[in-house]
This record gives sequence, structure tokens and C-alpha cells, in this order.
Amino acid sequence: MKKINFKLISCIVLSVIMLLTLCSCQAITDNTEAQSAQLSTTTSDANNLSTEPNDDEKDLSQFLISDDGFESPVRQYGTEEYINLNAGNLLAYITYPKGDLLEFDSACKAWVDNTLANYQAEVSASEGELLITYNSYIVNENYVVVQFKGEFNSPNYAHPVSLVKSFNANLNTGKLLLIDNLLEAEEINKLKKYVIETKNLDENYVDEQLLDNWVVLEEGVEIVLEKGKYLPESDGMVKIFASYDMLKSKDVSVSNETTTEETVEIKPKVLNETEIENLENLKEDVQNISKNELNENDKVIALTFDDGPGAYTAKLLNILKENNVKATFFVLGSQIDSYPELLPRMIEEGHEIGGHSWTHRSFKKLSDEELIKEIMQTRAKIASLTGVDPLSVRPPYGAYNNHVKAVAKSLGVHLVNWNVDPLDWKTRSAQKTYNSILKTTTHGSIVLSHDIHASTVEAMESLIPKLLDEGYHFVTVSELLIMGKGEIIPGEVYFSMKH
Ligand code: ZN
Repeated sequence: MKKINFKLISCIVLSVIMLLTLCSCQAITDNTEAQSAQLSTTTSDANNLSTEPNDDEKDLSQFLISDDGFESPVRQYGTEEYINLNAGNLLAYITYPKGDLLEFDSACKAWVDNTLANYQAEVSASEGELLITYNSYIVNENYVVVQFKGEFNSPNYAHPVSLVKSFNANLNTGKLLLIDNLLEAEEINKLKKYVIETKNLDENYVDEQLLDNWVVLEEGVEIVLEKGKYLPESDGMVKIFASYDMLKSKDVSVSNETTTEETVEIKPKVLNETEIENLENLKEDVQNISKNELNENDKVIALTFDDGPGAYTAKLLNILKENNVKATFFVLGSQIDSYPELLPRMIEEGHEIGGHSWTHRSFKKLSDEELIKEIMQTRAKIASLTGVDPLSVRPPYGAYNNHVKAVAKSLGVHLVNWNVDPLDWKTRSAQKTYNSILKTTTHGSIVLSHDIHASTVEAMESLIPKLLDEGYHFVTVSELLIMGKGEIIPGEVYFSMKH
């Protein structure tokens, strides 16, 4: 076990301060770079086989109540249930979700049943047609959103009546998520004021239901105003996005201004003595592994676990130990203090620890100052507990662009994505996780999964022995990259041993 190196920690802390100063003093604006970064991300995402909710998929604002009338619905939660009424006064075609969150499912179903009953009553003496469909999203791996959209047509009405209704739930507790579970009273007031100001609503018509149709998104909340309810019918359905940053900021005036992007002046970091020494040690370790543990045709892989440490991490460490295999943990800075003893244990048992940011926000959406803080604060925290300075960073959602790469380069860190993604966060099924990894893993794979889910850890119990049987040898991510490429370059993004 390596000794905690206080010189190293103070060095990291000092670099954070220096970089923060650098980016606030020497900020330059460069839109061209932002654009080219955008382009390059598209290409990289295509190379990346990932289906973890990547950043582009998670930019949900473009999907919610989109103008295509849900013709190509996004359905990330549960299965579809149908109600079809083909006879009688009311014809109804309703699709709604059913998953494993009881409270959430029954809230959705209750709204569907109520709506159906209301329109049945309405058309008792005439006729009509009711259509209801929905989109569902998993947000931030923590929340699920269902948004219904519907239309009611009747000869008694001049225009179709449009319906919209949203439900949010916390995936971890299974409970419905109410807006006051997410925001403070003060923030809710600010949100109300923001909606009124941005859309110039007549305050006389604003009622208690103004915020009823809200959905939780990664970076903020979105309010949907029903067609014709607060604004003229011709405006259609209107959606308004409010970021958490805006809602949490203390300034009184609420404005819609766009912020200009600041960029760090990017200077590649020159490795210091400790870092050079660490790299040499790593190369030596890899030579030893290749010489002593591997046969020429052995298959090598790196298992990686994100978002912990969590409640099941200790159990996972036991499983790894029993099988005598190594893995890499990309830990979330904000989680570390809940399980501080696990980090030294990981290092002691031969695993690698990398940073997965402090708050799990997409790197592509952060200012330079925030981005540097997300990476360096987590890095310093890991170093302070283990004495090992982690240079591997897994960007949340695998999201990066050229700018993120340049900042990483200036910090001396590299980005590690993956080429095997079992979607364990989504299926929460040990069997599916097991099958998926077994089917898609090959020599040189970097396997993504999450030690915060019981199902994932359960899958590992039988998967690791199975992979060992199949001739796989488990190394850490850094070992895998050294084996494949001979070196690890700051600012690069890696997906597997060779790519
Ligand atoms: Zn994550």
C-alpha cells in the first residue's frame, strides 16, 4: 500500500487554484472552436458503441412535446399498455406505460382512467374520439418522466382539444417526484415568476396549475403550458426551460440572457517527476503481468464500475477478491464521503480508481471553471484518501467534445469511455446484464457497468467466474491501455485496448 503523499495533494490543490485563476483571467471567446467541437463529437459518438444515456440523447428538451405529435415516441420506461374502445359513443385509443414503480404507474393509470371517464361523460349524448400516447425518459439515471399527449375530437367542438400531462418519479425510491421534492419554496416562486415573465402571461389568469405540467431534466426543469390555457390558442403548446443554476442563483432579476462561453487558454500539461515515475511504474507492472501472468493468446479486458462508491460496492469488492481479479472504479466525488473506507481498500486490493466528476453533470455543458473543478476536486479527494493521483477520468454519460479534451489535456488527465455497455442502469436485471456483457465482450474490451445497482453486482457474481472460464484476464484500465498502446496520452479519449 502506497503512503499518502502530502506533497502530491498540495500540488494538486495548487494546480486547481492556478488553473481557476488562469481561466478567469485569460478567458477568450471562440465560437468556431465550439462549433468544430460539436462536429467532432458526432463522429466520436458514432465510433462509440455506447447506448448509455449519452449526452445527445439526454438533451430531452428537443423531444418533450415535440411538434411531430409523438409519431416516433421515446419509451425508456416499462412496457406499453393499451386501452382500445372501438364501439359506443366514444372511440378511444390510449397507450400508457407500466413498469415496476407502483405508485408512479398507478398515478399514470389513474390520470388515463379519469380522462377517459370525463370524455365518456362528455359524449354521452353525442360522439367523439380520444387519442392518448406518451413519451418516457430516464433522466440522469435517477428519475423517470412520463409525458402524455392527447387529443379529443368531437363534432360538438370547433377544434380538437389537446391534452398534456406529465409525471415524474424517483427511480431509486420508486416514489412520485413532486416539484417541492426537487426545488425549495423560494426556487418554485422564482420558477413561477420566470414562466410569467418569459411568456408575458397576464397575471390575472395565472392560477395554481401554472406549474402542474413540469418535468425533471438533467440541467433544469421544463414547464409545459397547455394549448390555449394561459396563452392564445394560436401559440399552441408552449414549453419553457429553467436551469437549476438560474433557479438557485440569488439574484433577483430573472432574465433570459444567453451566456457567452469562456475558454481556457489551453496549454498541454508538462508531467512532473511524480507523474513520470508513476507512468514508469505502470509500464513496469504491465511488463510483469505480460511476462508472468499472460500466455500469448490470452484475452484481456478491463471491467469498469461507475457512479459509486455505493451500498453494493463492498460486496462487489468481495466478489473481485474471491476471484482474484482487478477492476477500475470511476467514483463520483460527491459519493466518496459516504463510503470513505472503500477507496483505500480498492487500492490495497489492486484496483484502479478514476474520477467520474463530482456532481455527474455533462462535461459538455459546463463552463471551464466548472469543468476543471469537477475533475480536479474529485481527483484531489481520491488522492487525499489513497495517496494515488488518478489520471483516468470517465466523463459522465461518456459526453465530451474537443474542448473537453483540450481541458483534460491541460490537466494532464485522459478520458476513458467504453465499448461494451450492458445498459445495466436501465434494465436493472442481473440476467440481462450477465447476458449482454458475455455476448459483447471481446479481447481488449472496456466494459461499462455501475456498482450502485444490486442487480449489476449480482450479475458479477456469476459473470466473473464465467469470463475467467472463457480465458479472459482482468486488468485495470490503465494497464489495458498500456498493453494496447504502450502509452497513455493526456487529453485522449479511449474506448478499448486499441481504440
Ligand atoms: Zn455515471
